[in-house]
Amino acid sequence: MSLKQDAAARALWSPAVRELHAYVPGEQPQGTGWIKLNTNECPYPPSPRVLEAVREAADERLRLYPDPTALALRQTIANRFGLVPEQVFVGNGSDEVLAHAFCALLRHGRPVLFPDVSYSFYPVYCALYGIEPQPVPLDADFCVRVADYRRGNGGIVLPNPNAPTGIALPLTELTQLLEGNPGSVVVVDEAYVDFGADSAVTLIERFPQLLVVRTLSKSAALAGLRVGFAMGHTSLIEALNVVKDSFNSYPLDRLALAGAQAAIEDDAYLQTLSARITASREWLVQQLGDLGFRCLPSSANFLFARHACARAADLFAALRERRILVRHFRQPRIDNHLRITIGTQAECEALVDALRSILSKTPAGTATAAGASPTASIGTP
Ligand code: PMP
Repeated sequence: MSLKQDAAARALWSPAVRELHAYVPGEQPQGTGWIKLNTNECPYPPSPRVLEAVREAADERLRLYPDPTALALRQTIANRFGLVPEQVFVGNGSDEVLAHAFCALLRHGRPVLFPDVSYSFYPVYCALYGIEPQPVPLDADFCVRVADYRRGNGGIVLPNPNAPTGIALPLTELTQLLEGNPGSVVVVDEAYVDFGADSAVTLIERFPQLLVVRTLSKSAALAGLRVGFAMGHTSLIEALNVVKDSFNSYPLDRLALAGAQAAIEDDAYLQTLSARITASREWLVQQLGDLGFRCLPSSANFLFARHACARAADLFAALRERRILVRHFRQPRIDNHLRITIGTQAECEALVDALRSILSKTPAGTATAAGASPTASIGTP
């Protein structure tokens, strides 16, 4: 195609799309031999019951559309959390559920609040739906100060635990935030809640403005199935359904519906995986500490860490050369941190070995850098 044709086709873009800066997901490398600690996937396989259910659903019924209301799955989720199906919404990954929440519940011509260091998809949804984003600074320790959310707003979005910090907000503080915002929808994104935070599901009864969003991508080891869900007052769920049915009536296919239902039913498997991952997390915190890193206190399946003297960008590049992927965000406040997903115990050990070797080649070595330059670079392997 010629450059002229390119330019002509580009001129056909909707004007609003020209202004968008889309979310950039973590790298999904092709080929084998990578240790992937960059997208907070689960390093262990999904429940065998999930795989069996997906296999069973893969038959000639695929010629038929799935249930547009996903009633069986919503019923299963409702049973699991002590709700009714009308309080449950399901979507194609929690990213889609969040997108519908921004569209259905957060477009009031007033700014939407979320932490300044948070999931970088939120400002993208704001741009997509013409919502003014208003990032609220975390404190110096990267904690949410709920008092800062007592200001006029068109809604609030909080990941709990926060990402990429991993820090959890206690329910007592979330309750204060909800009490201070009776007229705003508060979306609590619980993508990582199963790794150590308290769920806000118990507050749904008391606060009709609360929407809790979950995913099967992390603790249920099903990032490839693309299933997320939201729970809240029936009227909030109704708004999500209006948007969904104005967009795609069948966001979950037959295989996803079957697999998700089996996953929710197999809570014991999820608990086993979470326990294994939190044990590796605590081990890794210790090891990284010995290598001169400081990790924020994580209640998630990842660590957010900075080294006392080596630069995060250099560590990221040196690890990548060893085919170990972690996440580095070139953003104010956090560009000297690495977000490291907890892998299998063997992967965590390989990471520690690689970092030890990389750091041994730095001028400052692995010393915790009393007096070392905070911007000292490191030698690449
Ligand atoms: N919320 C947060 C805080 C996340 O980190 C992610 C994963 N990138 C999601 C939501 C979306 O997860 P998924 O679409 O896989 O359900």
